[in-house]
Order: sequence, then C-alpha cells, then structure tokens
Amino acid sequence: MESNTHSAPLCVTVITTMALTFVVEAECSVTKARSSRLTLPHTTACTPMFMPVGTQGSLKGLTPPQMVQLGCQVVLGNTYHLGHRPGAETVAAMGGLHAFSGWHGGMLTDSGGFQMVSLAKLSSVSEEGVTFASPHDGTTVLLSPELSIAMQNNIGADIIMALDDVVSSLISGPRVEDAMHRSIRWLDRCIAAHARPAEQNLFGIIQGGLDPRLRLYCLDAMIARDTPGFAIGGLSGGESKDEFWKMVHLCTQHLPADKPRYLMGVGYAQDLVVCSALGVDMFDCVFPTRTARFGKALVREGELALKHKRFATDLSPIDADCGCYVCKTFTRAYLHAVVKSHTGAQLISYHNIAFQLRLMADIRAAIEADALPGFVTAYMQTRFGPNVPQWIVDALFAVGIELDFATATPVAWPLPVAADFAAVVASEPGPPVAVDPADDGLAAMDL
Ligand SMILES: [Zn+2]
Repeated sequence: MESNTHSAPLCVTVITTMALTFVVEAECSVTKARSSRLTLPHTTACTPMFMPVGTQGSLKGLTPPQMVQLGCQVVLGNTYHLGHRPGAETVAAMGGLHAFSGWHGGMLTDSGGFQMVSLAKLSSVSEEGVTFASPHDGTTVLLSPELSIAMQNNIGADIIMALDDVVSSLISGPRVEDAMHRSIRWLDRCIAAHARPAEQNLFGIIQGGLDPRLRLYCLDAMIARDTPGFAIGGLSGGESKDEFWKMVHLCTQHLPADKPRYLMGVGYAQDLVVCSALGVDMFDCVFPTRTARFGKALVREGELALKHKRFATDLSPIDADCGCYVCKTFTRAYLHAVVKSHTGAQLISYHNIAFQLRLMADIRAAIEADALPGFVTAYMQTRFGPNVPQWIVDALFAVGIELDFATATPVAWPLPVAADFAAVVASEPGPPVAVDPADDGLAAMDL
C-alpha cells in the first residue's frame, strides 16, 4: 500500500504497514486529540470514530445500505457469535464475512474471549487458553490464541484482536498481574498464528487493570511487539470514572503517536468527547442500539425515554437538528406509539447510530479547525449545565481544558514520566519486580 505522505498537506504523522495506512492530519493544539485518516483493505475511515457493534456482521434491524447511508465506516463483528452460527469456516467458504453479510465497508472482529467469559456459566483460564461450557449445548470448549486467530482469519475482518486474559476491573491483587503477563504471552502466540498479516491487522490489547505500574509494563512489552495498532482493554467494567479516565490518559500518553488507539467498550456520548480529547481514535459499544431497544433515543441533552406518556402527543422529531431519515420522517408521538415493536426499536436504533456518528464527525471537524476546547465546553454545558461530573472536569483539566462554568476546582493528575517508565520495565522479560512507591515517582498519583 502506498504511503499518503504527499497527498495530505496537513499530514503530521504517517505509518504504513501491509494492510493499514494511518495518517494524522490534524492535532489539537491544546489537548491530545488528533484527527486521522485510517486506510484499511475495505475502507478509508476518519478518526476519531465510533464503530457500531454488528454482532453477526449486520447491525440489528439495519441493512448494509442503511449503514452506508448513515456513514458507518467500520462495523464490529463478534467472533464468538459468528463462530457459533454460522461458524467461522462456513463464513470463509462463503468468501469471508464481507461477501457473506453484504457489508463491504470496514470491519473489526473481537477475539471471542470476552463474550465467552461473559456468556458462559463457567469458564477457567489456563496457559493454553480459556475453557468454558458452551451456553448453547453445554459442551466444553477451549478457546486458545491460535483458535481465536484462525477463526478471525476465516471471518476476514480488516482489524482482528488478540485473545487476552480478561479480568474484571473490579478485581485487584495478583490475578490482575498474572492476566497482564499472560496477555503478553498470548499476543506472541497470536502473532505467530496470524496467517493473513498482509490483509488483516492484528491489534494488541493493553491490560494491567487499574494499576499504573502494570499498565506501563504492558504498554512497553506490547509496543515492542509493534502491532499495527493498539487497544486499551480491561476498562468500562464497573470501575469508577475517576479510575477509568486516568488509565485512558496514561495509555494514550505512552502509546505510539503514529498508530491508531482503540478504547474498547466505550460509547456514552460524554465519554466519546472526553476520551477523544485524551487522544483515543477508535471506540465501540453496544450501548446506542441496546438502549434503543429499551425505547431510549439519544440527544445532546442526554436520552429521551420515548415510552413515557408525555411523548404521546409530542409532534416534534427526536432531534430537530439531526437530519437523519427518522428525524425527518417521524414524530416523537409516532415513535411513542410503536416503541415496543420491532419497528420502533429499528427506527430508534437508526437515529441513535446517526447521533453517534454525527457526534464523532463534529469532534473531527472541531479538531481540524483547532477549536476542540470550545466545542467540548459547549457540549458539556448543553449536556450537564453547571453540574458537570467531577471526573469530566478533572479529565479535561488534565489536557488543558478548564470548564469555567463548572463549580469544582480540579486537581491535575501527574502522569508518570519517561524515567519512571524505564525503571518499571527494567525487569523484562520476567514479571515486574515489586517497586517501592517511594522510589518510583508514582506515589504522588491519586489512585
Ligand atoms: Zn435522527
């Protein structure tokens, strides 16, 4: 693939691998946000971007032409669901998921591990892989790094994810450290098993729970593996928002600037705004379509619960500024009347995806105009008024945005510096040694 160095006048960074070209086209002069062009085998996507979750290759209730109409760039498919039905080998025999599902845009598949752990009644982790009882027929299945990659090679997505040892962000102690080291060893096995590196990009997933030292160790080890992009994993699992943003901030601070950064499982609008300012390029979440099935429509002020009787006679659209097919065609009163039907879920899903994609387009435009701080300030004022959650005030302050209408007085969170980073990773390739907090410069962190 050719480098785009000469075709992008604003280009500040370019990386080209066999199946991926990443061009940073604009950087915010205040925050860590950047706007980029990510060229993959099936699409050229603009980041920061939101990737809707398509489960089996198609968004629930939306056809591929509708997904194109909405401006979907990359859709996320679940390897676990596809592996169960129709089966990864069947998908391969049909020419891959693009041909099988009729979606010809960008696609990303997960490793299958998270679904297995969350859906299976019993699962256990060994060095070999994740063993679980299938929720479908009760048989015992071993998902190894090699099997995950073989399935993802068969499905054929543009971006595939390493199998990692997923630990709840609410767990602390030695299990978190074990899982982080195992995730690094499994990444090596995934790289070795990857049969289509010229057509598919394997991303490593940064683990380490809520411990900055473990995160830094994992960052160093995985960056050394030089995968085409990196995901930040193990967050958005019930930890406090304060812990959440600090781990994101730490990861984006250390991930290479010339590779895409993907924050997994994050999709609330305010989180997309904050984490874009923290330097994240890619997001995915089931939230917009899942909340639509509960009758909730996304708007800049929050959510409209369309089941509520106050919408029964409301003749306005969900959002007069939206411009999507649903907002141009239907009233809140109509959507209230059909809210419990498949039609209602489908129409609200359509709007919610349009909402997410428009928000990301607005974020990109603000970055390109170097006007992100003003955009973020206006967004938070619309969303929260004077009651902006403290974690948002603090996270934005850490990247140079002060919300002058917010009443709280934030305290900056000092990031570990490079010297601390070097000290922490000095013990590689073995497990990290215990570090005295008084010596490693990390003690001042508010964790
Ligand atoms: Zn709409």
